[in-house]
Amino acid sequence: MRELNNEEEAAMSFLACRVSNESGEVSHQLTTMEVDQLTAGDVVIKVEFSGINYKDALAATGRGKIMKQFPLNAGIDLAGEVVSSESSDFKPGQKVVVNGCGLGEQFDGGLAAMARVSSDFVMPMPDGLDARLAMTLGTAGFTAALALHRMQVNDQTIDKGPIVVTGASGGVGSIAVNILASQGYEVIAVSGRPEHYDFLTQLGASQVCSVDALELGAKPLEKGRFGGVIDNVGGELLAKLLAHTNLWGNVASIGLASSHELDSTVFPFILRGVSLLGVSSTNCPMPLRRDIWKRLGQEWLPNALSDIITDEVALSNVSPVFSEILDRKRFGRVIVNCQ
Ligand code: NDP
Repeated sequence: MRELNNEEEAAMSFLACRVSNESGEVSHQLTTMEVDQLTAGDVVIKVEFSGINYKDALAATGRGKIMKQFPLNAGIDLAGEVVSSESSDFKPGQKVVVNGCGLGEQFDGGLAAMARVSSDFVMPMPDGLDARLAMTLGTAGFTAALALHRMQVNDQTIDKGPIVVTGASGGVGSIAVNILASQGYEVIAVSGRPEHYDFLTQLGASQVCSVDALELGAKPLEKGRFGGVIDNVGGELLAKLLAHTNLWGNVASIGLASSHELDSTVFPFILRGVSLLGVSSTNCPMPLRRDIWKRLGQEWLPNALSDIITDEVALSNVSPVFSEILDRKRFGRVIVNCQ
């Protein structure tokens, strides 16, 4: 494939989901722009697929303070093909993936037909994945895998007991359920939506229930029942799960779908050796990021991805999806066809 010259590249106009802030009113628009309007970077990528993550929904609607500058294209992950590169690490035609690192937060993101990114943040497409599969996993799958990685580094063995996954029918939750189950862990999927219990069972959960059905106590330290937790919800639920975690278990804190607050005590930590592990997909160091993506294309490739995908939308149709995600009207992953 011939590399585009600068004039050809700059003249290409394309569709983007652009977020603006007018006097504190954050909103998004589908707009046409050109490559030279994108934030700076040394690799230009034709975006084949992106995804809509909870964070993208917060950013595009302004319900969360995600973006550090305006206007900016939304989208914290993308997969596609290099169009041109000033870096010797990437060549036109090469398939690549980008997630986190400030994409869709500090520089223009993946919900656009084109992106321009620093080569420091671009990864060659891992073996076993293509652009569609990579974005079916997306930041959600990456984060679920990063959580499991952190737990396993901290000795999360199967014999410690079942792993609770909260917000289980969401993107992170559903992929976490599937990867954990495929690795032999017993999984308790906690979801507020009974209509998705069959889906979660198909993904490998051995128990699916509501928060109430777990009958969690409210004391600082409760009977140890769970080997570990992958938590997408935060708040009171996270505090209660910490108090029920078995000796030397790990609780990975990923999300805040219910609350950013955590009102707990030190007892689970100092009396049971429980670890509360932070999971930040945005800031994951690149060597670890590459390693996690490699594993996602191989031994951690979820075996039920076709069940996890619920919807593929065109870039021109992303707008309603943001509020549907925040209003809990979606489950699994939404991937976006950007071409
Ligand atoms: P989704 O919207 O796909 O899933 C979130 C799930 O949380 C929902 O499906 C729902 O599950 C549950 N939920 C939603 N609202 C509430 C509520 N008010 N109270 C309790 N549960 C609720 O989002 P993602 O999977 O993309 O992200 C999950 C969380 O993780 C988000 O908070 C997101 O910001 C965070 N995140 C953090 C990352 C990091 O790097 N730390 C990276 C990616 C995501 P159900 O209906 O089954 O109960």
